[in-house]
Amino acid sequence: MKKLMAANWKMFKTWEEARSTAQELVELAATQLPEDREVLIFPPFTALKGVADALSSANGFSAGGQDYYVEEEGAFTGEISPKMLLDVGASYGLTGHSERRHVLGEDDAYIGAKTAYGLASGLKVVLCIGEKIEERKGGKVEEVLERQMREGLKDVPKDITPEDISVAYEPVWAIGTGEVAGPEEILKAHAFTRKILISIFGEKANDMRILYGGSVKPANCAEIIALDNVDGVLVGGASLLSESFSQIVLA
Ligand code: PEP
Repeated sequence: MKKLMAANWKMFKTWEEARSTAQELVELAATQLPEDREVLIFPPFTALKGVADALSSANGFSAGGQDYYVEEEGAFTGEISPKMLLDVGASYGLTGHSERRHVLGEDDAYIGAKTAYGLASGLKVVLCIGEKIEERKGGKVEEVLERQMREGLKDVPKDITPEDISVAYEPVWAIGTGEVAGPEEILKAHAFTRKILISIFGEKANDMRILYGGSVKPANCAEIIALDNVDGVLVGGASLLSESFSQIVLA
């Protein structure tokens, strides 16, 4: 299984800034990228084509959409379909990110519908899960993760190709805060995530990637990526500069 090193650029970067950062990343990391690593960038929609084009010459690099709607086309002002993402060179979609759950108000049912629809449309999907600080303090981590996975993966076919669906464990309190989950917290959450994935998909879940996200930086990536059941990372802030993300990708 290749480790998936993913960048979430959120609502940052103009078209040209995104294109040139992707180009620089290829120059810094492509020739040294180990066989067992894959690099993925989620730029804003407006920059997707430029980023996908910049990555297209490099083996193991791909682009994805940060969001999409659950229809192919229609009167859905402001929305983007998986077909449109595929059309501009994206091969991945992101669902369940904490900002979409807690800032934009998406619920588990909608995230589940989106995850299944993206896969059915031909995207690979990264489903994000993670507890809020009050849920951790209240001893509810496993309850939250299990609910988000069972709902988020509810309509995903059991015969899915395991590489097509990944789960990113992103404790909300660690996103953009500089506060990283400790190794014990990551090990525990990822082992639990694997257990639930196996209960849903059987043994093939051992080939599904579980990413960690939450204040990953060049200085902590090597330690995190070496932990059991950590099959990649999802990086926000530290992915915005090609220098720092290339160090993460190669860590
Ligand atoms: C994220 O946006 O998914 C994320 C993990 O952000 P950061 O790396 O900045 O914590």
